[in-house]
Formats: sequence, C-alpha cells, structure tokens
Amino acid sequence: MDITITKAESLKTKPEADRLGFGTLFTDHMFNMDYDPDRGWHSPRIEPYGPIAMEPSTMVLHYGQGVFEGLKAYRTAGGGIQLFRPQENLKRLNNSCRMLCIPEFDEGFLLQALKKLLQIEKEWVPNAPETSLYIRPTIVAMDPYLGVRASHTYRFFIILSPVGAYYPEGFNPVKIQVTRKHVRAVRGGVGEAKTLGNYAASLLAGDKAHQAGYTQVLWLDGVELKYVEEVGSMNIFFVIGDELVTPALNGSILPGITRDSVLALGRKWGLTVSERLISIDEVVTAHASGQLKEIFGSGTAAVISPVGELNYDGRSFAIGGNQVGPLAQKFYNAITEIQYGAADDAMGWVETV
Ligand SMILES: *Cc1c(COP(=O)(O)O)cnc(C)c1O
Repeated sequence: MDITITKAESLKTKPEADRLGFGTLFTDHMFNMDYDPDRGWHSPRIEPYGPIAMEPSTMVLHYGQGVFEGLKAYRTAGGGIQLFRPQENLKRLNNSCRMLCIPEFDEGFLLQALKKLLQIEKEWVPNAPETSLYIRPTIVAMDPYLGVRASHTYRFFIILSPVGAYYPEGFNPVKIQVTRKHVRAVRGGVGEAKTLGNYAASLLAGDKAHQAGYTQVLWLDGVELKYVEEVGSMNIFFVIGDELVTPALNGSILPGITRDSVLALGRKWGLTVSERLISIDEVVTAHASGQLKEIFGSGTAAVISPVGELNYDGRSFAIGGNQVGPLAQKFYNAITEIQYGAADDAMGWVETV
C-alpha cells in the first residue's frame, strides 16, 4: 500500500521547550487509514491535522469500541530521532483489537507509516532534556448505527503531541491511595486491552483520591479486593527485602512495555525478580517489619514514578522514608539513557527513525 501525502498549507509555530505540557498541542500532520469489509484497511494517508467528520450516530461515540496506544519519539544528543520498542506497542494494539472485535492491521506497514509521519514532523521532536514527542495511535468504530454489535467500518489515526519533562522539578515521590470501593477491571473483562472504556471507568476513583490529597489510585483485583494490580494507569513494583515484585499478568492487568523493560533489566542486573500474586496485606506486613524498601509505578509517560506514601484503610504508610529509592532511580536512569541514546542499546530496544 502506498501512503498518500498531503502537506499542510501553513505550519504552526512550534512552542518553546518550557511551554510544553502534556497532550495539549498537536503537530501539523496526522496519519489516517480506513477499514471496510470489502477493501480491508485502505487509503493510508498523511494529511494536515484536523477534525474527523462523523455522524452523531457513529458507533464509537455510543459503545466505546475503540483502542489506542501511547509511545514516544526521543531526540538524541546527536540530533537523531528514535523510538523505544515500537513493535511492542503495535503488537499490543493488535491484541487490543482482537479483544474489541476490531480487524487487525499489518504491524510492519504501520511501523513504516509511523516513521514516515515522524520524518515529516521531525522538527516537532523537542530537544530540551526529558522532552519528547508523544505518539497516539487510535482505532475507532465508524458505522453510523445504534444497534449493539461490532462496527463494520473503522478509522485508524495517529496524532503527535510534543510533551515537556514529566518531572520539571526533579524526581518526586507521589502519594497513592488504595481504593476498595472501585475496581479498574475484572477477570474476563478487558483490563488487558488499552480500550477507551477502561479510562472512563477509572475517573471517579481518581477524582476521589485527588480530593483526599492523593495523586493516584492503587487498584486491587476486582474479584477478592485483595491483590494489588496497578497504580493509576501504570504498572506497579515493590522492593521487599531483596526481591523486586510485580503482579503477574492475569488478564485484568495492562501488560506495560515499561513493566517488561524493568523486568528484563532487573534480571540482567542479577536481581531477584518475581511476577506473582502480591496482596495488600503482604505489603502492609512488609512495611511493619521494615522489609518494604520501595514502591514505584512504571509507564511510558513517567517512565518510573516513585511512591512516597501509601494510604490504606484510613492509615498512611511512609515508603522508603518518602525518598526516591535507589532501584527506582537506577531503572529511571537506565531506561531514559537508552531512550535518548545516551547509553548503549545492549537490549536491542531502539528503533531509529
Ligand atoms: C498504558 C498503560 C500502562 C503502561 O504501559 P506502558 O507500555 O509501560 O506505557 C499501564 N497500565 C495501564 C492501565 C495503561 O493504560
């Protein structure tokens, strides 16, 4: 398939590095591609960033049949542009498609299309420390129809947004609150998919945590409300004694690429790494005995998010003296150095654009 390219007539002014937030500014061009049962995925094109025309009856607006991804393009010191494990994002997007009855796409073709879009938008990849160009591939159901069934037609689009440093004031531990009133996902549900409804369903619990003075919600499993699953929209890690523990993937946890990278680096460094069930009671007991050294979240946006305080059942626990733990710092440094090309890519995770 050939990608048709239509250039924007006028280009936007690029923002100063210190004016970049998250997800508010979009570049000049986007990628679009459509699906219908006769032609399959067709008409791939790069064109000016702009609205998608849709009828009010468009299925995604009613039933949430849509999936997305989040990854970043990084500017290296030498001026190059690179991606971090993008094949994993495309593979996960196809997994999400399968779970939402959306037709799969050709991952190799999409990687080429993304690179083409990034080449056209290369000036938008900021070069200030810890800034990047956030990439949001999305697929939505397009049938104008109100019956409940899988759509027959879809739009695949990729938009790009320059983002600032996640930690402009330095790496700071966050406060998290365990919720037992809400769950993010349940066994047999779609917790494993990056699908629209999961995020809508997490908002109320997030709001309540914010009102109580916490940054993120720590989610327990949806069956017994006993085992830890995720924190906010990140995966979660614990350092207990000399063991690095993260909940095993069970169908309701999103399989994070940062999570996988932390596990791979931890194993390479010779740490004791476990993917297993970890109950909130075990976390509290480990805190009481002094064995709980660190808690941190992992995800593309923050890379690593150290947790300084955990609130559970009305009680607050300081984690690691409310300081950034040594492993959180080590993983953050190692992963960001690979992403920005400052360290050798011994794991083969980098894809140059
Ligand atoms: C995207 C996401 C993550 C993190 O995945 P990464 O690939 O590491 O960015 C974790 N949990 C949820 C719920 C997510 O949506």
